[in-house]
Amino acid sequence: MASNNTTPRKNIVILGASYAGISTAHYLLRHVVPKLPNPDQYCVVLVSVSSQVVCRPACPRAMISETAFDQKKLFVDVKECFVAYPAGQWRFVLGRVKDVDLERRMINVMGDDEQDHLAFHALVIATGASTPSPLLGLNGSSEELRSAWHEVRVALPAAKNIVVAGGGPAGVETAAELAEHLNQTGSKTTQITLITSANQILPNLRSSIANQAQKHLTHLGVRVLTDTKVTATSPIDAGTSSALTATTTVHLSNDQTLPADIYIPATGTRPNTAFLPPALLSSDGRVLTDAHLRAPLAGERIYALGDASTFARPAIHNIFSAIPILCYNIHNDLLGVEGEDKVFKEDTRETQMVLLGRKRAVGAAMGWWLPGWVVRMIKRDYWLWTTPKLWSGEQWTRGLRLRAGK
Ligand SMILES: Cc1cc2nc3c(=O)[nH]c(=O)nc-3n(C[C@H](O)[C@H](O)[C@H](O)COP(=O)(O)OP(=O)(O)OC[C@H]3O[C@@H](n4cnc5c(N)ncnc54)[C@H](O)[C@@H]3O)c2cc1C
Repeated sequence: MASNNTTPRKNIVILGASYAGISTAHYLLRHVVPKLPNPDQYCVVLVSVSSQVVCRPACPRAMISETAFDQKKLFVDVKECFVAYPAGQWRFVLGRVKDVDLERRMINVMGDDEQDHLAFHALVIATGASTPSPLLGLNGSSEELRSAWHEVRVALPAAKNIVVAGGGPAGVETAAELAEHLNQTGSKTTQITLITSANQILPNLRSSIANQAQKHLTHLGVRVLTDTKVTATSPIDAGTSSALTATTTVHLSNDQTLPADIYIPATGTRPNTAFLPPALLSSDGRVLTDAHLRAPLAGERIYALGDASTFARPAIHNIFSAIPILCYNIHNDLLGVEGEDKVFKEDTRETQMVLLGRKRAVGAAMGWWLPGWVVRMIKRDYWLWTTPKLWSGEQWTRGLRLRAGK
């Protein structure tokens, strides 16, 4: 990619094309690159293992039926998101990042059958995090996600026991959606069990709200086991891509076992950072990130955002609050301006909205309890209604005022 016949463009490379990566790319292309002294010298390069982006919060409902959502809205081509920008200003590279050479400032990307070596001037790490279950996000390509959903849909009608491990929002919403679906289809004999090692489900919400959610689950027919840990499964890889719908025995910390025709491990997430040196990572595998959203141990002009980063707790609203600050600081770094950084501070007030099927919901926002009907109204279709503006970049029409470049 060249701005003229001799000068190669400086790549601002973004690893991962989802909530953090796509938003950063739009913000840079709309507000940062045009304000640099020589905008034609730069190219924003997005790298992702998936050619499509998915509305991830919708997974608990989307996995059950293809008709639950408009598939064209649920999955959107990453390249389509950027067609409004002139060619040469941006580029999409499809492939898995294998390693990053921080000294030579090169990235090694493995495509379908060839490797790409990308030089970077600035780098944003936004590769997110994977769930043990392949049903809950883009652990690989969108085709792989769709094929995992298909496998579960085929297994669902004959399932007598379904076990969901993990009492966070992903596990709770998945158990509720499955229960509602099976109630609707008349499969009331299917036992759904939700297991959490904590003493309540939804540990990020106050206990009165969590208890309400548990009542809703019970009403839907879900059995909830708190203070119970899954110690092992047989087969060992139950619920992962290699044994997604295998008949499973779930071993519990209370020495009991549960049979499962479908086992869904919705426990925790694993940051997608294996391509980075361990010295850059926290003990839970996220990129150590400072309040300016830089990864200071990685080197100059290297940043991290989203679930792959320690910047905040994993949530989309935290990413949205951080994007303008990240891009403001990138702009300063590209200009070589020091001492004028903006600082990101997470809003740690109780904020979480959880749908329990189509008729029930619980939640809180900025420390305030929200009635269920308000959560249903706001979160509606698992936020799918918000994605057209997000993926097209319209969400970032307005930007922070930046320092003028000379
Ligand atoms: C089931 C579920 C429901 C959720 N519901 C909500 C909700 O209602 N509200 C909310 O605020 N948050 C919710 N979350 C959390 C939210 O989805 C995440 O915070 C958000 O997706 C993080 O975005 P991200 O861009 O950091 O990473 P991700 O969305 O994880 O995307 C990372 C991208 O990087 C790509 N990638 C990964 N590794 C590589 C590699 N080595 N090379 C190239 N590309 C790679 C992936 O393919 C993916 O496209 C939910 C999460 C789950 C699992």
